[in-house]
Amino acid sequence: MKFVRKLPDIEELLAEYALSDHQKGKREAAIAQIRAILEGKDSRRLLFIGPCSADREDAVIDYISRLSILQDRVKDRFLIVPRVYTSKPRTNGMGYKGILHRPDLGCLQDDLSAGLVAARKIHLHVIQQTGMYCVDEMLYPEFAYYILDLIACLTIGARSVENQEHRLTASGVSVPVGMKNPMSGDLSVMLNGMLAAQMPQGMIYRGWEVRTEGNAHTFAVLRGYLDSSKKACPNYHYENLCQLYDQYKQSNLKNMSVIVDCNHSNSDKHYERQIRIAKEVADLCKEDPALGGFVKGIMVESYIEDGNQLVGKGIYGKSITDPCLGWEKTERLVLELGERWRIVS
Ligand code: PEP
Ligand code: MN
Repeated sequence: MKFVRKLPDIEELLAEYALSDHQKGKREAAIAQIRAILEGKDSRRLLFIGPCSADREDAVIDYISRLSILQDRVKDRFLIVPRVYTSKPRTNGMGYKGILHRPDLGCLQDDLSAGLVAARKIHLHVIQQTGMYCVDEMLYPEFAYYILDLIACLTIGARSVENQEHRLTASGVSVPVGMKNPMSGDLSVMLNGMLAAQMPQGMIYRGWEVRTEGNAHTFAVLRGYLDSSKKACPNYHYENLCQLYDQYKQSNLKNMSVIVDCNHSNSDKHYERQIRIAKEVADLCKEDPALGGFVKGIMVESYIEDGNQLVGKGIYGKSITDPCLGWEKTERLVLELGERWRIVS
């Protein structure tokens, strides 16, 4: 291992790129709204929506500006939490790992020092220019600290959810944390992750021995799974949701909640299937009131253009990781879902 350079001082970074007092208050309000939905005190649904990876600031801010207008049109039905995912897990270690690793898409080498700043800046600029507070993935628990004061929510991905460091960090952060089912689909891994995160814990973090209070606002995210022959299998159907409901109930977790991730192994990365999946989930909630109370919303991978492209192609607003639903289809879907969920509750 070669020590390339010392990272920028974290306290200086936090101070240099900071929220105003007004923005801090609005962030707290956004977090309180997410918590209220998870607690069942606010009947709106959560809509975690945005590109698979936040690859470039201009297109991401353009996209989220559109979302902020849409949010106003569906404000009685949905709380939109944009996805700004600044680090990306890779199955085999190859490929684009997010703006944190590669802040300059034209440069093939990792530059994590500049990436830390770029990731912090993109979150700050989204807030300043759109007024929205976002969700990011906690891929690296230590990195979460660099952006925690700017975000409203975190998720732990399918490849990380069994990791103790992720779970213990989730128990100490001040935002709700979504835990995805693992790649194998084993629901007990996700439920155990939430159990660990809801308890107070002791751990090592950023050179300190720390104690956490436990995070009551953890929630499940069903993203489909891969079977032993690596075939994608959905887990958003009625039977899957009922199975999770029963297992969840037995584990005495607080704030029982699930979000259906419409892409990944649920859509087998056919981005257009997200439309049908989202509508099916809304309809299931209508048919079964218990499920209606349990399913707190959906996740959709969406960007300006449909589909995805190779990293070097440079098409503005088109995903360079998982294929996404383009803006026109996204807008139509959200408005339609608003109508469906209006009938539901
Ligand atoms: C993602 O949300 O883009 C992602 C990588 O998810 P998962 O961990 O479910 O593969
Ligand atoms: Mn993705």
